[in-house]
Amino acid sequence: MANRSTCAYCGVGCGIEIHTNADGTPRVEGDFEHPANFGKLCSKGSTLAHTLTDEGRLLHPMINGLRASWDQAVSYVANGLNRIIQEHGPDAVAFYVSGQLLTEDYYVANKLMKGFIGSANIDTNSRLCMSSAVAAYKRAFGEDSVPANYQDLEIADLIVLTGSNTAWCHPILFQRIKAAKLQRPDMKVVVIDPRRTATCEIADLHLPIKPGMDVALFNGLLGYLHANDKIDPDYIAAHCEGFDGALASARAEGDLSRIAARCDLSETDVATFYQWFAAIDRTLTCFSQGINQSSQGTDKGNAIINCHLATGRIGKPGASPFSLTGQPNAMGGREVGGLANQLAAHMDFDEEDVAKVSGFWRSPNIARKPGLKAVDLFDAVAAGKVKAVWVMGTNPAVSLPNAGKVVEALQKAELVIVSDCIETTDTSTYAQVLLPAAGWGEKDGTVTNSERRISRQRGAIAPAGEARQDWRILTDVAAAMGYGEHFPYKTAADVFREHAQLTTLNRNSHRKLDLGALDQITEAEYNGMAPVQWPTLPNIDSQRLYGDGNFSTPSGKACFIAVRCQGVSNPVSTEWPLALNTGRIRDQWHTMTRTALAPPLNAHKPEPFVEVHPDTATEFGLENNKLAHLQSPWGQAIMKVNVTDSMRRGELFVPMHWNDQWARGARIGELVNPSVDPVSGQPESKHTPCKAAAWQPQWTAIMLSRENLPLPKCDYAAKIRGQKFYRYELAGTGSTEDLMALAHKLACTEAKPSIEYRDSKNQNIRCAWLDQQGLVTCLYVGPGSSGIIANADRNWLASLFDKPALEPVERKALLSGKSPAGVEDCGRTICACFGVGEKTILKAIKQHNLTDAADVGKRLKAGTNCGSCVSEIKNLLQQAG
Ligand code: SF4
Repeated sequence: MANRSTCAYCGVGCGIEIHTNADGTPRVEGDFEHPANFGKLCSKGSTLAHTLTDEGRLLHPMINGLRASWDQAVSYVANGLNRIIQEHGPDAVAFYVSGQLLTEDYYVANKLMKGFIGSANIDTNSRLCMSSAVAAYKRAFGEDSVPANYQDLEIADLIVLTGSNTAWCHPILFQRIKAAKLQRPDMKVVVIDPRRTATCEIADLHLPIKPGMDVALFNGLLGYLHANDKIDPDYIAAHCEGFDGALASARAEGDLSRIAARCDLSETDVATFYQWFAAIDRTLTCFSQGINQSSQGTDKGNAIINCHLATGRIGKPGASPFSLTGQPNAMGGREVGGLANQLAAHMDFDEEDVAKVSGFWRSPNIARKPGLKAVDLFDAVAAGKVKAVWVMGTNPAVSLPNAGKVVEALQKAELVIVSDCIETTDTSTYAQVLLPAAGWGEKDGTVTNSERRISRQRGAIAPAGEARQDWRILTDVAAAMGYGEHFPYKTAADVFREHAQLTTLNRNSHRKLDLGALDQITEAEYNGMAPVQWPTLPNIDSQRLYGDGNFSTPSGKACFIAVRCQGVSNPVSTEWPLALNTGRIRDQWHTMTRTALAPPLNAHKPEPFVEVHPDTATEFGLENNKLAHLQSPWGQAIMKVNVTDSMRRGELFVPMHWNDQWARGARIGELVNPSVDPVSGQPESKHTPCKAAAWQPQWTAIMLSRENLPLPKCDYAAKIRGQKFYRYELAGTGSTEDLMALAHKLACTEAKPSIEYRDSKNQNIRCAWLDQQGLVTCLYVGPGSSGIIANADRNWLASLFDKPALEPVERKALLSGKSPAGVEDCGRTICACFGVGEKTILKAIKQHNLTDAADVGKRLKAGTNCGSCVSEIKNLLQQAG
């Protein structure tokens, strides 16, 4: 029987069924009954079964590099924390947790730190993702409550997607919007994004806004609505406060033509956007990291919310501001106080809330003031103020801005504890204690998605090795620290019940978070729990919030916030002339610890890359598919250039995912601007001043190997996991005389290659090692940006690892790195679901005169499952036409 769970990745929170094949291997399918996805999954969700492997797993507790028992590890952690607290006080310790944790894990971590250690130094990687949206909601509505739901995406008449590449980052929501638009072609979609992303496939209007100018654009909209009598004065009078101040600020930004000029947009396009927003009641404004990850992210959120308040479009069918959360349980974390500036159950650090929570927890030692937010927290570790840090299920050495400083901080800390399901991450490298945590497919608990829907994540397989649930690890440490009677949990349901009971303290207050209907849930009911939106009270319609105009503030009225556009922190300059933007790509997730294990996901964008406009590439001497050196005031990186006119001139885009386990010199977090929003503490990850130049290697190499080998120490390296092989793309500046030594080292053998060609004059080396099972390793090295390396037929080489023995013609062709005549190179993978390559699609378009993506789908199946590659297929159709 299938096990019902939810996806491990984004905040859409798709329902998943985990099945077991006849051979005992797991298989995942979409859950047709889950209201987030109705059976559909994107490329990431549908390949989750590939990640259910013991490869790379942390299987046992480790102390200082040596295997330890759980008892030893728990005592070591508890004694270490207690000693530091005794010597330096509770604020000398910190937890850094994750939106990957389940609500039950989050609840226990938060209770231990804030309730019993007595410090609020617990923050989460959700700080990097949506803390500006949280702060904006709290300022406007009085509570961090998302008013909308996913049905609104289907019934809205205008959807504004701002700072959100929904097609790649929330693919199932994008497919829902696309399907609705197909049914109702009059529905309009506006995309506001500096880049022309895959989301623009369904856009009626794309506004390629200058980075940092969102407040000006939405303030301009508020001024326009007022000037054209499109506000709702009755709603404002009855349900809002602060309109006059917000309007005065908005008007000070200038008229439409000045706004357009400041945003670097066409006046006509801005006017069209404003006219549509003014005319269409059912307007939904979805915003995501492009708004939140900014030194003015909270103001941006409030500038959007102001326009919805002014038109009374909050919590109505198809009409709301709607933040799309990045992580699977960022919302659950918000509900139990995972952020350093919240207590639990949406409560604050005022006297009344502190008394309520402390009474409920029976914790006289409760923290009474907010703790350190993510960037400040690691700054405090670097400064020696925080001496112990426990990192749970996240990888700050990659994902935080100015990540080099985070590494320094971890090196300096007295005690670093990491609980994770993966053994070697860029962060765990610096830990004294490693605690093996259960991973997706093993974990048991709940998550909350972007529409406030709580769903069960259920374990389908036993935890690998000695891995344990995070809530249990925390419970055991709490007991060893002396707080056992306050942490009596035996099951995840015990924790959930207590969390639900705590939320009922909000009853009769102005807050909406209340899980009252679940506070006595039995073990059996918890196990069978169906997805449910909060508030979970009888006779309350929880589909939307605030539709009645009754908000969570003490007065019951929503607050307009007066905001003015500040632009970006650390703007570009003569020394740092380019603006670097970072974000996600379609087939990877966060720091790749899980997605890099799924071969189909590594085929779409196999190497770290930087996108740049053709004119900017020319200006800075960058060539497509060659390497570039990027530098900011905080760090540097080397990566492949992708020249594309989807970028604005003078700007760069780099994915956030690559790290030192899968690449060398491509940890983009090292470069990222550490400025933060003064209200939310969220970093400015969308704008870093930097410079770029072509980087010329003395040699380049490509190697494919049956074995997972360590990355060599060269300037540029990327490791790509395939089905039965690992591929290594390498470049360096060392002497070419060392290349063969490098080859042996990479191939992990001193044996002479089975096939070898050396052209000393031209410094070319090609060799392969074979054994009775077929190809072991092949390696091609050439000088500079060598042609042979660029032209090697990577797909054909990869296919050789499927063969038990090579044909003579294949052995011969191995030397050239090119497939023998008659074997087709299908090119870079476009459709991850069906493994269809770029060259195959282009060939089919030409051969059969295909003119639209649906025809390509009929011929090749490409784009017919999750649909995330349709915009790329359309680009290929254009290219071919
Ligand atoms: Fe998972 Fe998000 Fe894809 Fe759904 S849309 S399958 S939650 S990654």
